[in-house]
This record gives sequence, structure tokens and C-alpha cells, in this order.
Amino acid sequence: MQDCIFCKIANREIPADIVYENEQVLVFKDVNPAAPVHLLVIPKKHISTLFDLSEGDSGILGQVQLAAVRVARELNLGEQGFRLVCNCGREAGQVVMHIHYHLLAGRPFQWPPG
Ligand code: 5GP
Ligand code: ZN
Repeated sequence: MQDCIFCKIANREIPADIVYENEQVLVFKDVNPAAPVHLLVIPKKHISTLFDLSEGDSGILGQVQLAAVRVARELNLGEQGFRLVCNCGREAGQVVMHIHYHLLAGRPFQWPPG
């Protein structure tokens, strides 16, 4: 989608520190990390928010989660754990309107989140 920053990253129109990629998913480092490990896991297909998913997107969503776990395993996060977060909409703090999961690790996290 034009003017979507994450589509531009997926299309290599703007640079990002990419750590994993397959046909449907891209994983790259967050430019403003909130934890020692802070990656963004996105579907290459432009979908604005979780509310915009359709039945046909279930496979893509599965691929996104599998890619997140694959990268977490590669980073040896199995013992310490990690957090996988998808903000949906304004009050949840979604700023970039292209579905993305934050993969966070490397420090303890509070629950409930702020
Ligand atoms: P949100 O608040 O929408 O859930 O998260 C958006 C995230 O995208 C933020 O953590 C922000 O730091 C990150 N971000 C925004 N623009 C860019 C960018 O151009 N490149 C990268 N790598 N991350 C970005
Ligand atoms: Zn997009």
C-alpha cells in the first residue's frame, strides 16, 4: 500500500535491519527499541489492523506467529521467555496502521501492561 511505512520496508523502498523473511512474513528490528530484543513481525500483505482481517487471512496470521516463535528460538529465548504483542487501535497505542507484532525480550515485563 502506498504511503505505508511497513509496506515500504517489505518492498525494500526504505531500509530496515531485517532478521528473518519468508514468502509471507518479514521480521525486522524496531527502530526505537523498548527492550534489549525488540523486533517487529509483519505480514507482507498490507492489513491495517486486526479488525481488518478476513477469514482468508488465517494462514497469514499463523505464519506470522510461527515466524515469531522461529526467531525467538533462534535467539535462544526459550528459557527466559518473550512477549508477543499486537496493539490494535488508538487506545492500545497502535501508531503504524499495518498489522505488526512486537517481539520483546531481554528484560522482565510488567503485567498488566501500562
Ligand atoms: P505501534 O505503536 O504501532 O504498535 O508500533 C509501531 C512501532 O514501529 C514502534 O515501536 C516504532 O518504534 C516502530 N517504527 C516506526 N517507524 C519505524 C521504521 O521506519 N522502522 C522501524 N524499524 N521501526 C519503526
Ligand atoms: Zn502496509
